[in-house]
Amino acid sequence: MHTSTMRRSACAGLALVTSAFLLASCQNPDSRPEEETSAAAPESSAPQSATSSAPAASEETTETATTESEGPRATAEGHVVVLSTGGTIASTHDKSGAVVPTVTGSKLVEPLSGTFDKDKLTLEVKDIAKLDSSAMTLDDTDTIIEAVNKELRRDDVDGVVVTHGTDSMEETAIAVDTFQDSDKPVALTGAMRPFDDPDPDGPDNLALAVKTVTDPSNEGRGTFIAFADHVIPARGAFKSDTTKADGFANNNGKKQPQRPKALKHQPLGNTRVDIIAAYPGAPADLIQRSLDSGAEGIVVEGMGAGNIGDELAQAAKAAAKKVPVVLTTRVDHGPVEGIYGGAGGGATLADAGVISSGTLRAPQARMLLAAAISTDTDPAELFPDAD
Ligand code: ASP
Repeated sequence: MHTSTMRRSACAGLALVTSAFLLASCQNPDSRPEEETSAAAPESSAPQSATSSAPAASEETTETATTESEGPRATAEGHVVVLSTGGTIASTHDKSGAVVPTVTGSKLVEPLSGTFDKDKLTLEVKDIAKLDSSAMTLDDTDTIIEAVNKELRRDDVDGVVVTHGTDSMEETAIAVDTFQDSDKPVALTGAMRPFDDPDPDGPDNLALAVKTVTDPSNEGRGTFIAFADHVIPARGAFKSDTTKADGFANNNGKKQPQRPKALKHQPLGNTRVDIIAAYPGAPADLIQRSLDSGAEGIVVEGMGAGNIGDELAQAAKAAAKKVPVVLTTRVDHGPVEGIYGGAGGGATLADAGVISSGTLRAPQARMLLAAAISTDTDPAELFPDAD
């Protein structure tokens, strides 16, 4: 964690930050005793809530639930940068009743002003975008990756929170994780109810994200999604419910996801990777048309453990000779497994060079394939838990 000297430089540098909102007082940068800066990490190496005083979970646990009984949130300390990108958390109702992103990052953190100990935790806010996340492009993803890495490189920053729409949070989360060149934790969060809702869920989610990135036990663990009392590793996370406040799940089972070595960021923006959904009777030209339109990689969303019909399989096998083809499944949970033979069985596709996504689903597999192509990395390296 940073020292009081670093805290001083954070305060000095604040004037340079156009959209900064500081919850803690900068007048007394030395108010935190030195010993407080090095809180002992819990015995477990599993992700923990910053407020958790419960015994550490086993190494196998990938998700941490927080409860009211875990103590005050004021235990969080450090200097955290919050990057605001839009989404429901930053949205209000317009005159027609539609929900649109309008709120700045500074406003988003205001409800947290009484949540943390001001002498221990400082928040600095920057507005990166004001987008519904379903409207994001790979250029936007690049902007977020670069912004996160820039903040992580600062000596005075302990962790970074990204507020984000939930629709494509799983994509941005794994993209940030893949290019994260720091052990400092990153957490994405958002909301299912808008900022002007009478009972918004954004403030609690944001507080959880801040706790997540200031928790020393999360150092070296990459990027998380902190949402509705759950802290989920980015790899394998997915939006699991269109309306519930507790709208995220993960497909890691009880294992920690294996994170490949971080890649050096190269822009994803020009990399076209298409997702082709398989279904009974899906025609071959779905893949052919995608290639003709310039796709440099294909993610096939198969059925079951990763199987597709004969016609699509012929096209997938032919495509795999020219571009990387990754096979995933439309089923929420469980690994992709090359068990079945036949023209489009997973085993046959694997023999033809089609790469298994392991536990990752189409949105995240596409992001990783784009990352592999843009950095000239063997795509299989980015799916380390595949068979
Ligand atoms: N459409 C919104 C978005 O992804 C949904 C949300 O944030 O919950 O930006």
